[in-house]
Amino acid sequence: MKVELLPALTDNYMYLIIDKDTREAAIVDPVQPQKVVETVRKYGVKLTTVLTTHHHWDHAGGNEKLVKLEPGLKVYGGDDRIGALTHKVTHLFTLQVGSLHVKCLSTPCHTSGHICYLVSKPGGPDPPAVFTGDTLFVAGCGKFYEGTAEEMYRALLEVLGRLPPDTKVYCGHEYTISNLKFARHVEPSNTTVLEKLAWAKEKYATGEPTVPSTIAEEFTYNPFMRVREKTVQQHAGQTDPVATMRYIRREKDQFKVPPD
Ligand SMILES: [Zn+2]
Ligand SMILES: [Zn+2]
Repeated sequence: MKVELLPALTDNYMYLIIDKDTREAAIVDPVQPQKVVETVRKYGVKLTTVLTTHHHWDHAGGNEKLVKLEPGLKVYGGDDRIGALTHKVTHLFTLQVGSLHVKCLSTPCHTSGHICYLVSKPGGPDPPAVFTGDTLFVAGCGKFYEGTAEEMYRALLEVLGRLPPDTKVYCGHEYTISNLKFARHVEPSNTTVLEKLAWAKEKYATGEPTVPSTIAEEFTYNPFMRVREKTVQQHAGQTDPVATMRYIRREKDQFKVPPD
């Protein structure tokens, strides 16, 4: 499996997933269809599949144009508000892209129909990859526009958090630096947060992406994955992980990101 990152708009990522055995490919959240078509030509792959994480414009807004440019595409998603949808999916629905196995994970909260896609090559050497849209970001999570802290707890800790620890995390936005500044505010003594922030600033300075991370890494610096930790609970003045999730999400919604 090869994953090609395609930066889009100001801070979005589209991802071209290529099955090296069959040259079949899928695209995650193709908001800039022309760029997708050019990349598909460059690699000489056969694009068959669109995986849409959620209906927001900056993720699903290119679907209609892409299916005009590339007729016959199968368009997957978990929400009727997604443009050009041909296959509506639910939790644990599976599909194939060439020899790659794709499992749909329902993670409602940011939007009620949000789907994360777990992609693996059975028997292959690569760890699985999960495409998390606006549910899980590197060191953060999406806003709770259509859901509750209970739902985000389930999404992050009970669905994504139970994937193999080496699963690579490919998220929908490059928000890593501002997320880590909030993580530092929550856990000022967490040296992993400080090291990851220094690393992310270096990446940003050279114009490189900070994705992917892994599920295991997220548990070390992402405050929303760490709501069971005493340090995060104490910061929130809570003893319950869901109440902690609710508190730090509200706090982050108001957080003024410091310049350094
Ligand atoms: Zn969104
Ligand atoms: Zn978004």
